[in-house]
Amino acid sequence: MQYRVFPLSPERHIFAITATLENVSGTQQWQLPAWVPGSYMIRDFARHIVHIKAEAGGEALAITKLDKHTWQTAAPAQTASVSVTIEVHAHDTSVRAAFLDNRYGFFDGASVFLRALGREEVCQLDVQPPADSAYDSWTLATGLNPVNTDARGFGTFAADDYDSLIDHPVLMGKLETVQFDVDGVPHSIVLNGRQRADTARLTRDVQKICATQAALFGELPMQQYLFLTHVSGSAYGGLEHRNSSTLACPRKTLPRHNEAADKVRDGYRTLMGLFSHEYFHSWNVKRIKPAAFTPYDLTKENYTELLWAFEGITSYYDNLGLVRAGVISAESYLELLGQDITRVARSHGRHRQTVTESSFDAWTRFYKQDSNAPNAIISYYVKGALVALALDLTLRKITQGQKSLDDVMRLLWQRYGRDGTAGRQQGVPEKGIQPLAEEVAGQSLEEFFQKALYSTDDIGLTELLAPLGVQLHWRGANGHADKGGKPGESTLHLGAMTAKHSQGVKLRVLYEQGIAMQAGLAPGDILIAIDYLKVTNDNLDDTLASFSPGDKVRLHAFRDDELMQYDVVLQPSANEFAWLEIAKDGLTDAGKAWLLSSQ
Ligand code: ZN
Repeated sequence: MQYRVFPLSPERHIFAITATLENVSGTQQWQLPAWVPGSYMIRDFARHIVHIKAEAGGEALAITKLDKHTWQTAAPAQTASVSVTIEVHAHDTSVRAAFLDNRYGFFDGASVFLRALGREEVCQLDVQPPADSAYDSWTLATGLNPVNTDARGFGTFAADDYDSLIDHPVLMGKLETVQFDVDGVPHSIVLNGRQRADTARLTRDVQKICATQAALFGELPMQQYLFLTHVSGSAYGGLEHRNSSTLACPRKTLPRHNEAADKVRDGYRTLMGLFSHEYFHSWNVKRIKPAAFTPYDLTKENYTELLWAFEGITSYYDNLGLVRAGVISAESYLELLGQDITRVARSHGRHRQTVTESSFDAWTRFYKQDSNAPNAIISYYVKGALVALALDLTLRKITQGQKSLDDVMRLLWQRYGRDGTAGRQQGVPEKGIQPLAEEVAGQSLEEFFQKALYSTDDIGLTELLAPLGVQLHWRGANGHADKGGKPGESTLHLGAMTAKHSQGVKLRVLYEQGIAMQAGLAPGDILIAIDYLKVTNDNLDDTLASFSPGDKVRLHAFRDDELMQYDVVLQPSANEFAWLEIAKDGLTDAGKAWLLSSQ
């Protein structure tokens, strides 16, 4: 099986991809995935194919479309190699499809490689640069094994099978690469896009984070690792692969040459959390997988209740890895944790959906959120991270600090992750985490798992954090941009997530517990005046500050092009904003063991 990728037209954003299969005598079916592993939504990549043709032995061959993403080539006159060439419109700037213009090219294999059904064998991939000399400065980066490549990295690569082929994204452009080692394994951060980052600092910090995560599992599961990082104005995201990840980050989040080494801007802290998150997935979901993903069925939704473990536990360890690696302080970590607790507390959807239901319904609910999402669903990432925290602290408590969630992760790694690559290993059964946690605990955790995974009851964190020397506090919102995590005054609040709008304040999301929804305002409304004074997103909090709780005021808003008026009684938000504080005597030994070292 051979694949060839050619950036046919950067101006028209067209990749040409040819798949060639030797020794075909009958009809053959060819299929493009409907989704990409790691991103649980049907994307129907085949809709980006603008042209398809087939050949056998150099002659045109009939090809028929069978459904939205499957084609069948006719039987060749005699046994021959059959090729199918597709032209794919590649203009998706996310980390999960394909993109090509005169600045760079990127593809995730799931969006461009036709699978020859029944012939999932070893494959070769040949990638060429665009033909014009204007692209002579482009180089190529991928985690695929090179077979015969030139100095710029273009050429031939090998993959064990289709599953492996599509798990190695490819980036080409004017790339800057920095390298470091973790336990002798070469790692690279490949930066694409205009940037003037302090790459020495980025390398130093990411190296510490990777070393910390690797130490938790005790070994590295790959021979090399690449962070394929696209830098732009605002895009943000990440997608994990077996020996690489694709990241998208805003330019302003990168470390700057002129800032103090001990200063960690919020954006940079978020970015390090992204590196940490995707890297942790190298173990948790790329190798330790739900049974439902072994193998993936790329034609349709693959349902599992376990995303709370694969995304939630990963989300717990992403920020925890930063403090354990020493790249952020304990206080800074607790601020992030306070923000997560706040996000869950503000989502009344947590009373309507369990974290396992949220996992199962990821395809149609978490990935297809509307403005009512906080009232209807709970994120398996954020609540999953709090379940992981509670499980970790529970294990530490009942074993007097002898065991922790780290031990559960190592056990998961030994039982389900260690010996196998995708498609061949045993996956984690739907209820497979609890027995391993009980093995570590040496006792039943039935009550914990029932409550955390299968009920909508809140997880009590106050009692779990106290023995660590960490106090959990609650307060009302301090302004409309407040995300929690820090102390602050409670101020008057509409109970809405707002955004800038040229005419006033756009109400993006209304919380069902807030006064805006109770008064009849709706998502999408443009609030233009409070008490007959013009309001903008920038002066909203100042405007409200001139009133007192209980004051009745008139609001004016546009719904579509209709002017509406509402009378509301102003109130602060509920006490749903959390912040954490290290107790006066400091972290206890248990607290230090939790935050400052992985056992
Ligand atoms: Zn993730």
